[in-house]
Amino acid sequence: MASIKLEIVSPDKVVYTQDIAMLIVRSTGGELGILPHHAPLVTGLVPHAMRVKLGDGDEQLIAVAGGFMEVTPEKITVLASAAEQPIDIDINRAKQAYARAKERIAKFHQGPPDSDDIDFKRAELALHRAMARLQATKTEFEG
Ligand code: ATP
Repeated sequence: MASIKLEIVSPDKVVYTQDIAMLIVRSTGGELGILPHHAPLVTGLVPHAMRVKLGDGDEQLIAVAGGFMEVTPEKITVLASAAEQPIDIDINRAKQAYARAKERIAKFHQGPPDSDDIDFKRAELALHRAMARLQATKTEFEG
C-alpha cells in the first residue's frame, strides 16, 4: 500500500514520525485529506485533533495547537506551536483550560459585543486548544 512520511515537530521536539496512509487536518481554509503523492502545499492549521490513518486501517489522533503544514508528494511536515499524542496529554489540565476559557468567553458575552477584541480572540483560541486535547483523548465535554 502507498504511504507518505509524516513528521510532526513542536518547538522543543519531534512529536511524531511515521509512514502513514492518510492525514486528515483542519487547515485555515477547511478540512483537508492528504494522501501519498499529494500535490505540494503549504497551509496554516487551526487548533484541532488531527486524524492519522495507518496502513493497517488503524486511526490515531494527535492534538495540534496551531501552526503550519508543508506537503510534498513524499512527505508531510507539521510545524506546530504545540502538539501532543494522546498518551502525553494531561486531561485534567485540558479540562481546566477549557473551563477557564469558557468562563472568559461568557464574561465577554455579558459586556458590549466586540468580536475584534484581542482578549476575546485569545480566549477563543485557548478554548479550541483545550477542545483539541479533549478530542484527541476522546474525553467528553459539553458544547
Ligand atoms: P494551558 O492553559 O493549560 O497552559 P495552553 O493551551 O495555553 O494550555 P499551549 O500554549 O498550547 O498551552 O502549550 C504550552 C505547552 O504546554 C506545550 O508544550 C504543550 O504541549 C503543553 N501542554 C498544554 N496543555 C497540555 C495538556 N493538557 N497536556 C499536556 N501538555 C500540554
